[in-house]
Amino acid sequence: MAEESAVKVCVRVRPLIPREDSAASENAEPVHYFWKYDAKSIYQSDDGNSSKSFSFDRVFTPEETTNQLYQAIAKPLVVSSVQGYNGTIFAYGQTSSGKTFTMMGSDRFPGVLPMAVEDVFQTIKSCPKKEFLLRVSYMEIYNETVSDLLVDSWKRKPLEVRETINKTIYVADLTEELVTSHAQVLAWIRKGEKNRHYGKTKMNERSSRSHTIFRMILENRERSDPASGENADGAIIVSHLNLVDLAGSERASQTGAEGTRFKEGCNINRSLFTLGQVIKRLTDEGQK
Ligand code: ADP
Ligand code: MG
Repeated sequence: MAEESAVKVCVRVRPLIPREDSAASENAEPVHYFWKYDAKSIYQSDDGNSSKSFSFDRVFTPEETTNQLYQAIAKPLVVSSVQGYNGTIFAYGQTSSGKTFTMMGSDRFPGVLPMAVEDVFQTIKSCPKKEFLLRVSYMEIYNETVSDLLVDSWKRKPLEVRETINKTIYVADLTEELVTSHAQVLAWIRKGEKNRHYGKTKMNERSSRSHTIFRMILENRERSDPASGENADGAIIVSHLNLVDLAGSERASQTGAEGTRFKEGCNINRSLFTLGQVIKRLTDEGQK
């Protein structure tokens, strides 16, 4: 059996939105080129001459729904997180490419995040021999500063990233809220989203310049079986499921920005570059 890669990279091509679609609006911004794609690669083409093509584990077409994407790439990670394995799903791309639409979604089009939460609880129900303890955290990284989105903004202070003796990285004092239902998790997510509104006009700008990490912390252990008198050994397995909406990638290469914009650009540049290096290493070294 072929060994599965620890890292999968897929691309989602979204439909044109009204401001790009000249059929829908007279003032549409011109789209300079179109992406052509097949099942595993995309390439730019403006006049039928195709250019360099980029390969992915999978390409999702504009016709495919978030649910189809979720079933294909996110659900397996969600199920294995309940079984004790860590999993992370990132959305990477420039502003307006559809990261938040895909991860968070809206009331009409639920995203990966609410679908994952629902499946975590469904999967737990199908494991009656185990007992679970679930917590959630939600943080934002803006200009290299980590803040806790589950804490009211007036009480919030920058959090420190630390390392334990055995080299585990953690965010000190990050709130982890105990949850027992799907509805409770959604309420915490809503609270976190509300806490991101720093001043209405700045909200959109800031959201495209910050990374958010929503995490479910899952603890499980075997239940002791009173019927057979069998005692479980009580070992607790802890796993993390991380759902990440990254800052817009265009800042990484944007030139000519000054002051605050420039500083933000440098920080996003550095963090996305480092993330790229980590993913490259993981891909090169397989399961190591
Ligand atoms: P980002 O978070 O990457 O900046 P958004 O998720 O906010 O981008 O998407 C930008 C716009 O495109 C939004 O109006 C969103 O509703 C729309 N959009 C994104 N992806 C899709 C899609 N697959 N189908 C329909 N509309 C989409
Ligand atoms: Mg967004």
